[in-house]
Amino acid sequence: TKGAAMVTAVASRVQAQRKQIDKVLALFRLTQEQLVGIRNKMQVEFEYGLKKDTHPLATVKMLPTYVCGMPDGTEKGKFLALDLGGTNFRVLLVKIRSGRRSVRMYNKIFAIPLEIMQGTGEELFDHIVQCIADFLDYMGLKGAQLPLGFTFSFPCRQTSIDKGTLIEWTKGFKATDCEGEDVVDMLREAIKRRNEFDLDIVAVVNDTVGTMMTCGYEDRNCEVGLIAGTGSNMCYMEEMRNIELVEGDEGKMCINTEWGGFGDNGCLDDIQTQYDKEVDEGSLNPGKQRYEKMTSGMYLGEIVRQILIDLTKQGLLFRGQISERLRTRGIFETKFLSQIESDRLALLQVRRILQQLGLDSTCEDSIVVKEVCGAVSRRAAQLYGAGLAAIVEKRREDQGLEHMRITVGVDGTLYKLHPHFSRILRETVKELAPQCDVMFMLSEDGSGKGAALITAVAKRLQQAQRE
Ligand code: BGC
Ligand code: MG
Repeated sequence: TKGAAMVTAVASRVQAQRKQIDKVLALFRLTQEQLVGIRNKMQVEFEYGLKKDTHPLATVKMLPTYVCGMPDGTEKGKFLALDLGGTNFRVLLVKIRSGRRSVRMYNKIFAIPLEIMQGTGEELFDHIVQCIADFLDYMGLKGAQLPLGFTFSFPCRQTSIDKGTLIEWTKGFKATDCEGEDVVDMLREAIKRRNEFDLDIVAVVNDTVGTMMTCGYEDRNCEVGLIAGTGSNMCYMEEMRNIELVEGDEGKMCINTEWGGFGDNGCLDDIQTQYDKEVDEGSLNPGKQRYEKMTSGMYLGEIVRQILIDLTKQGLLFRGQISERLRTRGIFETKFLSQIESDRLALLQVRRILQQLGLDSTCEDSIVVKEVCGAVSRRAAQLYGAGLAAIVEKRREDQGLEHMRITVGVDGTLYKLHPHFSRILRETVKELAPQCDVMFMLSEDGSGKGAALITAVAKRLQQAQRE
């Protein structure tokens, strides 16, 4: 009977532990009602951003991009494109052939070392120009004077297609003396400092806009661009008459919503967990980009890490031992989450991944880690879904349509690589915007190609104006 008592004691301890774990996981579960509430709040923030009176204080900035038209197929020529702000920095040569709507691209990826991302603005732009020089050399294009489109994936205030003042850095960037400056000017000055070649900078473009354009080249119904990658953001085509910051009422213009800032006024506090707060406090921009910090690849792994630390402290994981690795910021990249959550992966393989991360796990541990990853990425996909439902519903209502079909161009590692993210996102949109038929179109290399297309359209318009 002594043995039996011990078995009962162990069983009830296991049960109590399970309860504690469930309590943590429950914090990440959103009800249908909560999701509807988030969709509605997002719509309120869209209106704040668009209206002149409320715009200065709006947390979802709704920035005009001065991109008004889609490519019409007559664009052609050779263009350079830069892509800064995602996982990699890339320089591209894009050849567009008119009529056939075909595009050829050559690109080179360059690393941006941490000390440059977080050094001075001059160093950052000198580095960028160094990479361009390498690329031109490599392609045998030195001395060629090509039009350039700059995909710069940070919030910029634009007054024309070739001007963009950086409002503030997001994600992993924090170079000094850039906020409040025009990034096109900074690039021009760096080119001048090097004094080796000349480039005609025609457009500065957000990655969401490039993605929308790339998909719009093939599907005219594509009026939304979505990035679910290192960062989180969305753009869409808005009626000029609703854009109070820009003169004119005719036609449409693309708005870069910068929805990553959703919640910065406290409107998401009720769903924020202690883990979200810890991630925020440990970030480069505390208090900012709260929605982005709940949804994007740069932060999901960090949320997971904070939960694992807490569960370990509570003695529920890793035999209560917090390893040095677990204390290290950034160890859980999106790639690991994607692997851990893959249904094809046996638990033994999950343990192997954890081993790679320096975490010694039991089989039970690996089950819990997988559950934690699932809860965090599921919430992220649902939050994305609520945001996307907000925009398609708004567009449907604005046009007075009973039913609307729309295509969303998408890019980003989270959407592309994660085994469940895209499905949950789509399901959520369906539930929260039942009167909209939303098609998702994966963009192949959206930001680079899109920048070139926008540059081509801008060139075509410039030329038409001159004639
Ligand atoms: C930036 C956006 C960008 C998004 C995706 C966010 O951090 O503020 O401008 O579109 O990341 O790259
Ligand atoms: Mg207007």
